[in-house]
Formats: sequence, structure tokens, C-alpha cells
Amino acid sequence: MPLTADLAHRVALVTGASRGIGRAVALMLAEAGADVAVNYRERAAEAHEVVATIRAMGRRAIAIGADVSDAAAVASMVAAVADQLAPVDILVNNAGIALIRSVDELTEADFDTTLAVNLKSVFLCTQAVLGHMRAQHWGRIVNISSGAARGAGGIGVHYNASKAGMEGLTRGYAARLVGDGITVNAVAPSLIETDMMAARRDEYVKRIPLGRMGTAEEVAQAVLMVIGNPYMIGQTVQLNGGTQFI
Ligand code: NAP
Repeated sequence: MPLTADLAHRVALVTGASRGIGRAVALMLAEAGADVAVNYRERAAEAHEVVATIRAMGRRAIAIGADVSDAAAVASMVAAVADQLAPVDILVNNAGIALIRSVDELTEADFDTTLAVNLKSVFLCTQAVLGHMRAQHWGRIVNISSGAARGAGGIGVHYNASKAGMEGLTRGYAARLVGDGITVNAVAPSLIETDMMAARRDEYVKRIPLGRMGTAEEVAQAVLMVIGNPYMIGQTVQLNGGTQFI
């Protein structure tokens, strides 16, 4: 078996792929041969730049603005991918928000928004792509969780809950879909050099035994590994520079 997946003729949808981890995942999927739908919420220019880079590799790519916490927007997005590329074979649920809130600052609106964007979106996107994956008896779903699913981290309890819930969805879907040829797994990074971590970067680096933050490309490499391994079912792959040991 080749060490890297050959994804030629596969269509991937990466949510939140205009920047950060999603962008790196989209580019690495294209390098592996996939055509890629690049979802974003607001930053259309950045998403179109990712699309241009993928097209320069000789793959097909489209940018799609959609709020992944909105069921109608998700349904339109998945239909647009099918129309303009082909039905989704590989789904990477990456879009997420990290509102930094203390226990006392956290509002009901913050909680609801975080759960909708980080957790409900995984349910909405997964349900929307299942039909095609089941019909062809092949599919790959990778959810971008976080070390905050297990530890406290620096964002807040709402973020902990959203990522722990995501790993529950991962295991639940994995067990129920393995017979359909669909694998569902999670990749859980901690402290990756992206916009999301920029505000507290220097404080965070001091906590990492490896001595630096991770890169979006290192996370993307784990996503590609998971996609390439049909025997991995319902697992969470952690990448954290050793932070689980402190
Ligand atoms: P980022 O740089 O802030 O990028 C977030 C991406 O998600 C952007 O593409 C953004 O689109 C998109 N997005 C946000 N809300 C959305 C919505 N409602 N609908 C559609 N797209 C939406 O974040 P990142 O650091 O790459 O994080 C990506 C994922 O990794 C998140 O799930 C995050 O929780 C997880 N994670 C990150 C770290 C880390 O250290 N960076 C650690 C653990 C887990 P726009 O550009 O259009 O705003």
C-alpha cells in the first residue's frame, strides 16, 4: 500500500479553508490529487487565493461562502459542490471559532454560537454528504477537534464542550458508518500557528515542551494520514508538541 493516499478523482469539501489549518488541509488534499471545495464564512478573497493555488496544481477547485452552522446554507453548499465538481467523497469538518471567555464572562449567546459553529456544523455537514458516500460505499470524514476536548486549554468551557461533543459525534458516526465503507476520525491539534492563536501566541509558546507551536501543515499531514488509512475507525489523532504531558 502506498504511504500517501492517491486521491485522484476524489472530491473533497474542507470547511473553513480560507486560512489556517483548513487552508493547509485543502492544499495538501489537492497535492494528493483531489479536487477541492474551499468553504469560508467571510473572507472570500483568501478563499479565492486558495482556489487559484489549487488550480495552478492542475486540480479543480471552487470557493463557497456558507455559514456551516446554518442548515439551509450547508444544504446549498453541498449541492453546489455536486453541481460544480462532483458529490463530496471526503469531508473535513474544520471550520471553528474560539471566543476567549472566562467562566464569569461567558454568555448564553457565546455558548450557543460556539456550539452551533463548532459542533452542530459537524452534524449538518455529515448528514448532507452521507447519501453519496453510502451509495458508492466509500467516504472519509475527518473532524478537526482540539486538545481542549480533554484538557481545559485557554479558550473556555464552551469551547471544551464543543470539541468534546465533536469527538462524541466522531465515535458515534464511526461505529454506525463503518459498514457503509465510510471512516470517521478526528485530528486534535493544540497550539497551532494560525490567526486563531495570534492574540496569545507568546504566552502559549512557553507552555509547549517542544518549544514552538505546531504548523498548519503538520495538522494537514495527520489529516491525510487518516484519510489514507481505511482501518482507522473512530479515532482521535493528537498533535500537541508534548502539551498533554504537562
Ligand atoms: P482560523 O485561522 O481562525 O480559521 C478559521 C476558519 O474557519 C476560517 O476559514 C473561517 O472563515 C472559518 N469559519 C469560521 N466560522 C465559520 C462558519 N460559521 N462557517 C464557515 N466557516 C467558518 O482557525 P484555525 O486555527 O485554522 O482553526 C481551524 C480549526 O482547528 C478550528 O475548528 C479550531 O477550533 C481547530 N483548532 C485550532 C487550533 C489552533 O491552535 N489554531 C488548536 C486546536 C483546534 P473566514 O476566513 O471566512 O472567517
